[in-house]
Amino acid sequence: TGPTIVAGEILVEIMASERGFGFLEPLALTGPYPSGAPAIFIDQVAKLGGGAGIIACVGRDDFGTVNLERLRRDGVDVSAVSVSDRYPTGSAFVRYRPDGGRDFVYNIAESAAGRISLTDEARRLADGAGHLHVMGSALSIAGLKEIVAYAVKAVRARGGSTSFDPNVRKELIEGADGAHFAALVDDADLLLPSGDELLAAAGLEDERQAVAALIARGVGEIVLKRGADGSTRFGADGSRTDCPGFVVEEIDPTGAGDCFGATYLTCRRQGIEPGKALLYANAAGALNVTRLGPMEGLAGFDALDRFIAGTDRAK
Ligand code: ADP
Repeated sequence: TGPTIVAGEILVEIMASERGFGFLEPLALTGPYPSGAPAIFIDQVAKLGGGAGIIACVGRDDFGTVNLERLRRDGVDVSAVSVSDRYPTGSAFVRYRPDGGRDFVYNIAESAAGRISLTDEARRLADGAGHLHVMGSALSIAGLKEIVAYAVKAVRARGGSTSFDPNVRKELIEGADGAHFAALVDDADLLLPSGDELLAAAGLEDERQAVAALIARGVGEIVLKRGADGSTRFGADGSRTDCPGFVVEEIDPTGAGDCFGATYLTCRRQGIEPGKALLYANAAGALNVTRLGPMEGLAGFDALDRFIAGTDRAK
């Protein structure tokens, strides 16, 4: 029992209205949209009726307000979000390439998001939490490492659970961060990799071997995100469940993975069996990519049920 919590970057996202390359000439932009992987994740938990809280830092500015109002409206506990008078809210500028790739300009390190620290409110939220979801950014922001270390211990002490989405580039997990990354993987009751992150997490080249090695290391279950192809769950008992994706027109892929993970986790925490949880998570990810803005396509159970009933699935 106790809410699901996350810690990390709250950002606004501002996108180019048209596809193209980079930001080297003046172009039409749209936004700001509320964003940041932890914010997307926790807002979706709340939309599904799960208890939800976030530890973060925003600036005392309109970009911070856009985010806090959205999170509050959807029912997320924002009592552990501190507001900086000195640093602005973080931001990400995105442009989609004609081939589907993306160009980013980030302002995180020197923003409020980069100044996050273990406050009394953060401790209080972690002390009452039932589940902690950790994301790749926990490896790169100093204050966030300290928060995650504290929260893992606090949640474990209460008999709670953890999940980890290793959404980091391969370069980042080699060298100095390798041991820290491995510890986050080993700690996870639920691992949510996408693409080759499964292989990277295990340090192996073969999917089956990677799954077996991670389960042997103590990971409770693995849910692999496969983009338009859907997802696959690997259980600790050796079971494998494939769930084909829904057929949709992809408008904006940002946020799908976080929305998917939040939905799978919240379904499981509400006692929904793994196969049904995968179906809901696929639906949530697919619905999310049909909307511009990473948090604009988040949906509760009623909307997901309607989407599932009315949408074809890939074979
Ligand atoms: P990440 O954003 O972490 O890389 P994915 O791109 O795999 O994760 O997206 C997460 C989930 O969202 C997928 O497993 C799938 O269920 C759904 N999804 C993502 N993109 C699409 C798409 N184009 N069509 C249908 N479903 C999608």
